Amino acid sequence: MTCFMCKGEMTNSFTTYMEDLGNCIVIIKNVPCQKCSQCGEVSYTATVVKELEKIIDGLQNSLTEIAVVNYSARVA
Ligand SMILES: [Zn+2]
Repeated sequence: MTCFMCKGEMTNSFTTYMEDLGNCIVIIKNVPCQKCSQCGEVSYTATVVKELEKIIDGLQNSLTEIAVVNYSARVA
């Protein structure tokens, strides 16, 4: 797989995903991804995107301002 930004080499890696829901900031650690070795562009597989959506959906109504979750702990 090559990077769609710079055509660099994409390698399997882990990243921290962050999303601002307005009333809550979600931080998901250890998310498996493909990372470009040249520009650092990150892309996720469809499976990972679905899991991220599920995790975020579950946190939507939480009253915490900052939610930090570990991807590998949520997706077993
Ligand atoms: Zn790149």
